[in-house]
Amino acid sequence: MTVTNGKGPRGASPIKASSLFFTPLPPTHVVPPGKESHGRYMLTIPWNRVSGWGQPKIGPRQDLSFDPLAGVLQYAVTCFEGMKCYKTDEGDIRLFRPNKNFDRLKRSASRLGLPCEWDNDELLELFAKLMALEKPLVPNTDGSNLYIRPTLLETSEGFGIKEDAYASEALLYVATSLNLGLGLYPSAEGLDTGIKLDACKEFIRAWPGGTGSYKLGANYGTVNVAKKPGYAMSLWLHGKEDFISEAGAMNVFIIKEAPDGFLEFTTMSLDNGIVLPGVTRESIIELLQDHASGKKDFPLEGIPKNIRIVERDISMPEIIQGLEDCTLKGMFGCGTGVVVVQVGEITYEGKTYTIPSNPIIKTIRDTITGIHRGKIDEGKSWSFKVPEWNPEGKDGESQEHVTAA
Ligand SMILES: *Cc1c(COP(=O)(O)O)cnc(C)c1O
Repeated sequence: MTVTNGKGPRGASPIKASSLFFTPLPPTHVVPPGKESHGRYMLTIPWNRVSGWGQPKIGPRQDLSFDPLAGVLQYAVTCFEGMKCYKTDEGDIRLFRPNKNFDRLKRSASRLGLPCEWDNDELLELFAKLMALEKPLVPNTDGSNLYIRPTLLETSEGFGIKEDAYASEALLYVATSLNLGLGLYPSAEGLDTGIKLDACKEFIRAWPGGTGSYKLGANYGTVNVAKKPGYAMSLWLHGKEDFISEAGAMNVFIIKEAPDGFLEFTTMSLDNGIVLPGVTRESIIELLQDHASGKKDFPLEGIPKNIRIVERDISMPEIIQGLEDCTLKGMFGCGTGVVVVQVGEITYEGKTYTIPSNPIIKTIRDTITGIHRGKIDEGKSWSFKVPEWNPEGKDGESQEHVTAA
């Protein structure tokens, strides 16, 4: 479902990168205690229903303040994106398919009655400048990254009965933090050990007609309490069949041997609006399809050509059946945070099942990481090279306008 709104009156200002106001860090800048892993700068762009987008600003990271009755505080009118900035061995920095995230943010914003129109190229230019400023912070090893959190929320009073569903004031901001995933997931360290999941029947993350396919803050805050100690994440279920939807905040793939000998990569369909349309999920599907069709001789070594990608629901009983008859050949989660991580164990209805490990999963992880860090060229311009920007001097002025795949 797409709700069309948030346009504001005709002629309201668009996001314009050229009107950026930049405030450098003060010479006296010191990193506050406990904030060592945060980026030093943030990007903010206010929005008002009458005038449209206001002046974009990049300046020192700081606290935000809102009216106590702001929509974000009262009714969780907030949505976000999760992206990462990677450094190549040559020292340049990259974003991975940023327009996919910008489009998804528009979709989430639309669902919440927040402004959802802007030119992605203008936003990318602002992003690129923020990233260029933080370039010295971006680490350059496989699995390391500067995590980027674009957030869009309602700052106007959002309680009580409103004339219509739409916010009158909003704020889009981008904050960063180092190395999301490192130390938490084996895949961040390049290891192929599996994680433990707890198949959760008590809390339902998403259901048909709900908001599971949108990246809304409310989808996460309401199910955090589900995670049991000792497990990496919850495995989300839905329906009386105990269909899997996702695990934690990642999409799930199951590798199974089909009766015709093909290796099937099954992931949940996006059709019922329960599953978040992950950029990593979509990218893996494309890579595997290109590999299977022979369209691109892609470095997915060790992965056979007779594979098939299937998008459909899969239930816990079907997984257990696959373990019993040995057709289940592995399972993994994927997302910007974890990249690609093996599932090693699932606890379901009081029993723990061991999922076979599969070296194919690490191959996929290494391929995606290689694309992120510019070491592998998938031929689709997925990796966006951030231009240099020196706000003090004149360097980079000629690179004002950028576009991405
Ligand atoms: C963000 C997210 C994903 C992964 O999406 P990517 O675009 O691959 O990072 C998957 N599931 C949920 C619930 C998410 O929030």
